[in-house]
Amino acid sequence: MAAYPKIISNCTPRHKHPLSLCEGLAPYKCNGCKEYGANIGYRCNFCPNFTLHEVCGAYPDSYVHPFYPTLEFRFRKKTCMSHECDACGEVLKGFMYQSPRPNLLKPLRLHPLCIALPTSLNYSAHEEHPVQLIMETGGTFSCSRCNENKSGWSYRCDEMACRLRVDLVCVKVDINGLPEHGIASMKYDRWLLGNCCCT
Ligand SMILES: [Zn+2]
Ligand SMILES: [Zn+2]
Ligand SMILES: [Zn+2]
Ligand SMILES: [Zn+2]
Ligand SMILES: [Zn+2]
Repeated sequence: MAAYPKIISNCTPRHKHPLSLCEGLAPYKCNGCKEYGANIGYRCNFCPNFTLHEVCGAYPDSYVHPFYPTLEFRFRKKTCMSHECDACGEVLKGFMYQSPRPNLLKPLRLHPLCIALPTSLNYSAHEEHPVQLIMETGGTFSCSRCNENKSGWSYRCDEMACRLRVDLVCVKVDINGLPEHGIASMKYDRWLLGNCCCT
């Protein structure tokens, strides 16, 4: 993915106004996907407190993920609260990508932040080696970052000696720059009390 544009003059259906890429942002809750971000994001030129992740503002409406080369994921603006992301397992609360699967009732659904994760990542919490995105369905693993048993997609260091494996919830917190602001989870709504982000 090339660098994101500085200005998006027409970002329908994501938002009705032009958006500008801003740096130095305090932690915010993305008005698109409802997950947290910090440091960089798109702000509306007209609506106060409207901020989107770079991915939520500028990722293509149609995307083919390397794990599913025969499927086409399409951007969707709203979702039912009961759906979970097939990559990280967390509830989808806003912007998402969805693809039907042939012969299966349940479509695949992914967060924008999850669909945009690179297959190989230079990870701030493991600077020794790049880590690789893996999709193993079935079974659980112990996350090297939060020590909880997780399932779903993860990043793994392929150096045998490292045995590092991190779930996507932890990775998303780290690559969004949240720990440097004292935020350790995408779920900690109390960090942003007073920052209205309901629209
Ligand atoms: Zn977002
Ligand atoms: Zn606006
Ligand atoms: Zn996800
Ligand atoms: Zn390693
Ligand atoms: Zn974890």
